[in-house]
Amino acid sequence: MQPLHGAVRSYAWGSRTSLARLQGRSVPSEHPEAEIWLGAHPADPARLGDGPSAQSLLAHIDADPVRELGFDTAKAYDGRLPFLLKLLAADEPLSLQAHPSAEQAREGFAREESAHVPIESPVRNYRDANHKPELIVALTEFHALAGFRCPLRTVEFMDALGVDALSGYRSLLADQPDEAGLRTVFTSWITLPGPALDALLPLVADGLVDYLSTRAKSDGGQFVAEARTLLELGESYPGDAGVLAAMLLNRVTLTAGQGLFLDAGNLHAYLSGTGVEIMANSDNVLRGGLTPKHVDVPELLRVLDFEPAEVTVLDPDTDSADTPVRYLTPAPEFALSRASLAEGHSIKLDSAGPQIVLCTEGKVALDDGDTELVLERGSSVWVSASDPVFAVHARWGDAEVFSATVG
Ligand SMILES: [Zn+2]
Repeated sequence: MQPLHGAVRSYAWGSRTSLARLQGRSVPSEHPEAEIWLGAHPADPARLGDGPSAQSLLAHIDADPVRELGFDTAKAYDGRLPFLLKLLAADEPLSLQAHPSAEQAREGFAREESAHVPIESPVRNYRDANHKPELIVALTEFHALAGFRCPLRTVEFMDALGVDALSGYRSLLADQPDEAGLRTVFTSWITLPGPALDALLPLVADGLVDYLSTRAKSDGGQFVAEARTLLELGESYPGDAGVLAAMLLNRVTLTAGQGLFLDAGNLHAYLSGTGVEIMANSDNVLRGGLTPKHVDVPELLRVLDFEPAEVTVLDPDTDSADTPVRYLTPAPEFALSRASLAEGHSIKLDSAGPQIVLCTEGKVALDDGDTELVLERGSSVWVSASDPVFAVHARWGDAEVFSATVG
């Protein structure tokens, strides 16, 4: 059991207050802070300990994978920690993106390797051969776009906007309200030539403004959140086809404690909020817009899942005080649970494998019968597979901890 210090990643969409406040640092921070990486990803591994003697978690695991990960995990994942845990804070939307399946990632990585695309090249799609299922659990209200909405509902949304220039697409979706219809409309929008896009986007923006200022009052405001999001995206990313694509997606609001699992092929964009995110240890992202970064539309179209579906929000039972609640996903690389502890209460956490414990509320003491370690809000510890079972005590008031393990 050793204190783990995550690497703060500064991206333009990050927050100058959320992560700093969570960790008790002064606000505003010098740079927008988007993510804190708690893991052993080669691009930015967390450190064990502080100061000049701190060792990277990656080097620490490399030195003795079986001791740190346990025999089974070390064998199954080639001596690597299979998950990456993050604290994430978005003040502005992240890019519209999807992640490949394991098979697509293996194939794509091999293809780019044989084409000699340098691994650090900005046009590289596959930086490793892994898939990247991911799960976000909200710490604050969290907003996202995820997966294709039922097309007939999108037809209703278009009707509410009353934009004549959308009528062709509307008919297409109304006539073919399925995967194929969505693929056709999405593909034509995302590949629309610049001049056509420049003509269409302002008309859509006018429709959104009209809807919000007049028609929303008569339809019970059923598309208000969707319309506001599209307008905001249009302001942040003028001329970007991702704004149109976003019209086809489910808009999701998570309350604190709720989770959202994003499997391969799910088109998504985080909009705003702070959360705990866990994913397979991979960097493979295919972007479709809403970003100044590399966008590869043909490759995105190869991996996208156009099957329309309502979003499944993971909402583990919050009444079970002192018992960790688990966010169930099919990902074998990770499992995430959360425990809310009332003041004076304790739980035991089994360390049958590598584990990262992160405190998100209050302050707790971790004790393995031998040593005791105090975990402040926003800080974390690394627990190796060879460490003993330990207890978490909420001695100084109510507290909340997350536990990340192999799935
Ligand atoms: Zn993603």
